[in-house]
Amino acid sequence: MLVVITGVSGTGKTTLGMGLSAGLGLPFLDADQFHSPANIAKMSRGEPLSDEDRIPWLQSLADALLEYQKSGGAVLACSALKNAYRQRLQVHTDQHWIHLQGDRDLLWERMLARKGHYMKASMLDSQLAIWEKPSFGLLLNITGTPEQVLQVSLHYLTSQGMKMKIGVIGMGVMGKSLALNLAENGVSVSLYNRFVAGKEEGVAQAIRDAHPEIPHLLAFEDLKKFVESLEQPRKILMMIPAGAAIDAQLDALLPLLEKDDLVIDGGNSFYLDSDRRVNRLKEMGMHFLPMGVSGGEEGARKGPSIMPGGNAEGYAMVADFLGRISAKDKEGKPCVTYVGPGGSGHFIKMVHNSMEYGEMQVLAELVHLLRFGFGCSAAQISAIFSDWAKGELKSFLLEITADLLLFKEGGELLLDKILDQAGQKGTGAWSLTTALEYGIPYSPLAEAVNARGVSGEKAMRVAFSKSFHHEFQKVEGTLETWLPKIKEAYALARIINHEVGFRLMKTVSDTKGWGLNFNEIARIWTNGCIIRSGLMERISANYADQIAFFETPGVKEQVNSGRMALAEVVGLGLTHGFAMPVMSAGINYLLGRITAESSASVIQAQRDYFGAHTYQRKDDPSGKFYHTEWTKS
Ligand code: NAP
Repeated sequence: MLVVITGVSGTGKTTLGMGLSAGLGLPFLDADQFHSPANIAKMSRGEPLSDEDRIPWLQSLADALLEYQKSGGAVLACSALKNAYRQRLQVHTDQHWIHLQGDRDLLWERMLARKGHYMKASMLDSQLAIWEKPSFGLLLNITGTPEQVLQVSLHYLTSQGMKMKIGVIGMGVMGKSLALNLAENGVSVSLYNRFVAGKEEGVAQAIRDAHPEIPHLLAFEDLKKFVESLEQPRKILMMIPAGAAIDAQLDALLPLLEKDDLVIDGGNSFYLDSDRRVNRLKEMGMHFLPMGVSGGEEGARKGPSIMPGGNAEGYAMVADFLGRISAKDKEGKPCVTYVGPGGSGHFIKMVHNSMEYGEMQVLAELVHLLRFGFGCSAAQISAIFSDWAKGELKSFLLEITADLLLFKEGGELLLDKILDQAGQKGTGAWSLTTALEYGIPYSPLAEAVNARGVSGEKAMRVAFSKSFHHEFQKVEGTLETWLPKIKEAYALARIINHEVGFRLMKTVSDTKGWGLNFNEIARIWTNGCIIRSGLMERISANYADQIAFFETPGVKEQVNSGRMALAEVVGLGLTHGFAMPVMSAGINYLLGRITAESSASVIQAQRDYFGAHTYQRKDDPSGKFYHTEWTKS
């Protein structure tokens, strides 16, 4: 596409041209730069150019436009005051004109304010005298702000067939942030938010208006016009709540789309729903990407970790855009990868969130033990966590916990004013039910979900704490003695949380034949996402899914050295009145998994005793099932 902006000096051709250039991703050409030295000298002396002076200049511009059109187009700012000049510059059918026009006084003011421009302000009148009303293109009065002029120009160009690169549906926390991130990275975006009379009106436009500094955004409230504004094949990212809203949005959207179009669900949808939706769109000849996004509002705006799965062809259509907006790993590679088929992108996001639950809960347990068991102040705990975060324990969650422990409101710790009730929105519980379905032990991460459930029963907890006289007991030993053990226990609890999550991912991947690449998954989780950490960097570099996670180099040593510390810290907490659901489930889980002789013989005997369920014998390797008449011995 070629865009030519015309007008006398002072109309803002360069400002608009540069805005459009950024918005459309096209190079900007300033016609003044194409003048010969003789023309420049003449204008500097205040002498107007003759038509003879202009012809070679216009020809060089026309040649440049044709050349640029071969590689996608350009935006040219050129006075082109007469229709004859404009006709010389009309070189292609995909060429659009925007003629800027302004009041003489306003232009005069702008000209006088200019510095370092070779055009004398006194030449304005001569330009206005020869200016001819254009016979084609958009004639635009420049009374508005530069941002408004840019918006009107963008709308005009879309009405002329110019299309935006991607559309985002849902202007909530995540949709807005991702759209702005895309636009700032040179991807033109159409914004859409549903219209609900009296409640949700002009939402997308308000975001457009709040960001005049970002040029390539267009706002819509009409779904059909939004779809029509997009380049084909269309690419549409939905950032709306999971569940029925996604199906309802697809029902409204799909009749407006065509074969080869792509729809991305960037929310936290349940992966089996996503499996179904991939198939639904495939049957219609369209692409569907179930895509996990992690990093919260800040991440979405500045660089999230992105987990797209589903249709690989669809991924190829947006791989460049996603790479531009994602976080970057240590080597500068984008924290985005094609995860695998079906709902695998949403599946790993679900497990990511479940690990996030576990990591958060371990920190909560330690804050409580240090504060009320050891009598540490919030500032002391913050200093301990900050110190840990400088070494191999570094993690985003550790850092923000150190930070929030210092946050004061009205001179008092904000944390103490926050109600101790945590909710959960789906992904944690879905991970747990999936683990149960696949027979994968999940107790440490399951306990993180359960802990939120228990926290929700505040009134009952308060009542029980009185009737059972519960109080935290002060620890008698010194913090100096315990701190190295607490640190080791923390490190191991985290390893266990990660092992549990990676094991579930591997089992489901193997069963469904997804072939997930766990080093790559860990790599895209080394930055941008909530569970980014030094541990994740080690997993990304060392984990080979052919061996058990616990035997990963670097991890194995910590499992050996840390397990006594974890048991001791959990014992300390429990005997002093502290619930430590994730850390205690962690050590139980670990001991259970490294115990050669488990207590399950007793279970099998009980089952056979009361229900004739049969059992297998250690002294019969054939695997044959036995039953015993237990009451007859
Ligand atoms: P949000 O701030 O509540 O925004 C939700 C958006 O969806 C709003 O634009 C809302 O429009 C729209 N919406 C609500 N119900 C709708 C419906 N039935 N049909 C069409 N549009 C509807 O939510 P969010 O935090 O951006 O989250 C969006 C998705 O990303 C969710 O799946 C969430 O789980 C996931 N996610 C969130 C985060 C995070 O940190 N917030 C991180 C990763 C993933 P109205 O303004 O008109 O209500």
